[in-house]
Amino acid sequence: MTDDHPPVPDQRSGAGAPAAGASPGPDTEAEWSRAVKILDGATEICLACHVRPDADALGSMLAVAHALRARRGAGAQILASFGDRPFEIPRILRFLPGTGLLSPPDQVPARPAVMVTFDAASPDRLGLLEPNAAQADELIVLDHHASNTGFGTVNLVDPAAAATAVLACDLVGRIGAELTRDVALGLYAGLVTDTGSFKYPSTTPRVHEMAARLLRTGIEPGVVAHELWDRSPFAFLGLLSAALGRARLEPGAAAGLGLVWTTVTRADRATAGLPFEVAESVIDVVRRTDEAGVAAVLKEDEAGHWQVSVRSKGAADVGRACVALGGGGHTLAAGFAASGTADEVVTALRKALAGALADVNQ
Ligand code: MN
Repeated sequence: MTDDHPPVPDQRSGAGAPAAGASPGPDTEAEWSRAVKILDGATEICLACHVRPDADALGSMLAVAHALRARRGAGAQILASFGDRPFEIPRILRFLPGTGLLSPPDQVPARPAVMVTFDAASPDRLGLLEPNAAQADELIVLDHHASNTGFGTVNLVDPAAAATAVLACDLVGRIGAELTRDVALGLYAGLVTDTGSFKYPSTTPRVHEMAARLLRTGIEPGVVAHELWDRSPFAFLGLLSAALGRARLEPGAAAGLGLVWTTVTRADRATAGLPFEVAESVIDVVRRTDEAGVAAVLKEDEAGHWQVSVRSKGAADVGRACVALGGGGHTLAAGFAASGTADEVVTALRKALAGALADVNQ
């Protein structure tokens, strides 16, 4: 899977444009203190990440699960889940340590005493676990989406953070847990994914400093990269060929920045015998196109709906465009869902892009 940031699924938030109630950037020490106090006093802690989890969501959650379980004197029961039905861990994330710790959403208490969410910008991103979050006595929200609605009782939301993994790493340290190899691997998977392998503008010195700390635990970056991006069944080559063969370049679209787009259909996947998630990486080839400032891939899911991944090279705010289309994400990587023909969906995208030029210096 791949999206929001290459190899990862779309990070859609159901939230509208950054609302007045949105959390204002890096959180205060008081919020962190409250979060630590809540976790210290809890006897049961439920962790939840967004549906169709990407490496940042699942990796951050599993890292914190490991840390909470291992922390000195911990007596709390830890439960980790996400609200998908069927409950399936994306194949490319099965190498992460601790996937055996995950429970299906129906095992999460209806009213958790303490719940922590990862990488979800709004409650609806929790899928089947949205009602549980609404009922939780304490809801600690860890996220880095600017569109986060601040739906927790404690909101640790930092849009300047390159990944939710950055906040999760902070939390691990603050609860006094050791940065073990298992903890580090989840955090590293999130960090490397959300920075596009340290290529996106979010790749700050702080990001590399965190990566260095994680690598010192002995995790192997080559293994992570191979699992996340550098492997696929042979049949994927046929699917990729079909998708790339249909690519269209529209130089005048996106206010002259240019749009390149293609589709990955159910028929493509049926021919190749491959699951939906293999379509996630197609955007990483399509977005190479020099003549286009914006790239999109329309991926047809099992229900016949389009899950659309959109990427910008900097001048267009595709997050804003996708929010206008009912989706969400970040400035340079976002997505939305739509029905209709591919041409109808692209027509809607063209319109949204026309009004979404960002003041991004790039
Ligand atoms: Mn993320």
